Amino acid sequence: MKRLREIRCFMLDMDGTFYLGHRLLPGALRFMRYLAESGREAVFVTNNSSNSAAYYADKLTSLGWAAQAEDILTAGQATAYYLRALKPAPKIFLLGTPALAAEMAALGVQLTEEAPDYVVLGFDLTLTYAKLAQACRFLRAGVPFFATHPDLNCPTESGYIPDCGALAALLHAATGVAPKVIGKPNREMIEAMLLKKPKVPKAQLAMVGDRLYTDVAMGRAAEITSILVLSGETQPADLRQSAIQPDYVFDHLAALAEALARDDAAG
Ligand SMILES: [Mg+2]
Repeated sequence: MKRLREIRCFMLDMDGTFYLGHRLLPGALRFMRYLAESGREAVFVTNNSSNSAAYYADKLTSLGWAAQAEDILTAGQATAYYLRALKPAPKIFLLGTPALAAEMAALGVQLTEEAPDYVVLGFDLTLTYAKLAQACRFLRAGVPFFATHPDLNCPTESGYIPDCGALAALLHAATGVAPKVIGKPNREMIEAMLLKKPKVPKAQLAMVGDRLYTDVAMGRAAEITSILVLSGETQPADLRQSAIQPDYVFDHLAALAEALARDDAAG
């Protein structure tokens, strides 16, 4: 196992790790301050591809941590990095929100209605039947299919609503074509992260999150250091029973900050 102090860049899940609902979790600010003091960095990651990185930066700022858009990696942006690595300036037919379309364009992915290189499905809250039908025509014609993340449902204040994975299942049922999926728990999200931060070696990257089957599973799949925090969904009993085991477990980010400082001091 790698020593904690070798980690220079922490990928942070947000809900259940950095905040819960509308409140920062214990030690969230302390952890970020210690990263800054010790010359480390953090990137917040989210599977939600309906919002922009700027949206999440504003949300974190309103909760008390002044984040910038470049501190965020959404599954939508990860998909853009991934596609750009496959083909420079790729042309895509997008099923996504205007926010996702803008993120794609900002990263050099061209949006097109005709002859796309790829069909890309996001968490499209603006989906129309016409877009679904057109996507199916492209898929039947053999255009490769990508989905930003696998989540079947998205929790909202009024209950669960169908997310990207459920829409992908519809397109799969109609055409027989299943997408390549980028977001957590897939290692492609980490590969995109390494494209966003080309100066960070994989050995210095860690994934921190509150879910075994997404956050920790992704860290394991990509063979980077994985850190579970017990401040969100996972209970100690879940951890004992799970086949997916993290490299480190902490109650919350405050405990991770303390362990990191101890390891730094030990030299
Ligand atoms: Mg979480």
